[in-house]
Amino acid sequence: MEILIVGGGAAGLMAAVCAKERAPGAKVTILEAGPRVGKKLLSTGNGRCNLTNTGAAPASYAPAGGLRALERMPPARVMEKFERMGLQLRLEGEGRVYPASDAASSVLDTLRLTAAHLGVEEVTGFCAVRAQAARGRFLLEDGEGKRVAGDRLILATGGRAASKVTGYDLARGLGHSVTPLRPGLLPVKTDGAGIKGLNGVRVKCAATLLRGERAVLRQEGEVLFKDFGLSGIAVFQLSRALARLGGDAIALDLLPGFTEREAGEFLRARAETLSWRETDAFLLGMFHKNLARNLLAAAGIGPGLAGEVRAERIALLARLVKHWRHAVTGTPGFESAQVTVGGVPMDEVEERAMASRVCPGLYLAGEILDVDGPCGGYNLNWAWASGAVAGESAAAQ
Ligand SMILES: Cc1cc2nc3c(=O)[nH]c(=O)nc-3n(C[C@H](O)[C@H](O)[C@H](O)COP(=O)(O)OP(=O)(O)OC[C@H]3O[C@@H](n4cnc5c(N)ncnc54)[C@H](O)[C@@H]3O)c2cc1C
Repeated sequence: MEILIVGGGAAGLMAAVCAKERAPGAKVTILEAGPRVGKKLLSTGNGRCNLTNTGAAPASYAPAGGLRALERMPPARVMEKFERMGLQLRLEGEGRVYPASDAASSVLDTLRLTAAHLGVEEVTGFCAVRAQAARGRFLLEDGEGKRVAGDRLILATGGRAASKVTGYDLARGLGHSVTPLRPGLLPVKTDGAGIKGLNGVRVKCAATLLRGERAVLRQEGEVLFKDFGLSGIAVFQLSRALARLGGDAIALDLLPGFTEREAGEFLRARAETLSWRETDAFLLGMFHKNLARNLLAAAGIGPGLAGEVRAERIALLARLVKHWRHAVTGTPGFESAQVTVGGVPMDEVEERAMASRVCPGLYLAGEILDVDGPCGGYNLNWAWASGAVAGESAAAQ
């Protein structure tokens, strides 16, 4: 039996290892467009590769449903698999798992060495542009006329996030549909003077994505101001909801432990205690000085002494500190994204085997599918789990 795997990324490498372990006599070939496999893995987790999350469960992902592969291959089994391949792991905060070496290259080396030892073949520089299924066989062609044939095909071509090549047309050619593709886990562009001069400033706060006045999603964490808008983990998480559900604004709550009334009382008391300070120094010690300056400007608090600021201005400042609204104007696009929202819908895939329901012998795994998870190791976890299940199932049939 010959198993072809298009895409030598996280899902494709794991699929190859699991297929070969399941059927050692099968010929397993990875066809990768790039000059080497697993390039993207090296830049994951800021070069450290946050490879899974102990809390990853079907409910962690969007859209809901269709993720029983994660039950077959939960994070504990993903970790066990890597440890058996010789990778030492380290658990950090919020369930994030990294290689103990702190180097993403260790993850890739582990997979490559295991795949080579098992006899997986790697063909690089093969960008598949056409896939055909006929009489139980698959025929793949690259753009230069090279052809490869096999009995089973696993599409593990990833998504559009930070990638120039994709496999969506291959999936379409084999009868699948593809839902609209949008960038996820990325900064958000915002408009307005609010962020002027704040590039590089970080704040721990709660960020809420709003559609009209309705809160779509609230996320506590770090927000990083950029000259074009908002970034940081909290905004990354909101960007997935923005991609799926839409949104007009992000409201920042800079004092999430306070109600608006408490924030007002706190600021009034502060203005009394620090009545001698110039207004431009009133918020120093609470917020970064540029952030303080922008908040005061937005609340219309001009030069003078803190003790002389009128009560309604303090109330406006409290409102701003609790609901600082930034209109969303877009995102920087797929180049800046960590994940693709959208893809081949899971209802076209038999979820326990990752087998196509429309094309017998075809399997799909990883980001090509319409499945995305939050920051924190969830997306690689999906790639490993779905890749492992696809590889085992393809080899088992
Ligand atoms: C900067 C960055 C940091 C990230 N950090 C993390 C992290 O720390 N933790 C986490 O969980 N997730 C992280 N992610 C997300 C994670 O990397 C992806 O979700 C995951 O790699 C998807 O795996 P995949 O195998 O489906 O796709 P990929 O890893 O993208 O692999 C797909 C492969 O297929 C190849 N390919 C595509 N089309 C074709 C074709 N037509 N013919 C041949 N080959 C083709 C590509 O060249 C690529 O090598 C990060 C993403 C980015 C961009």
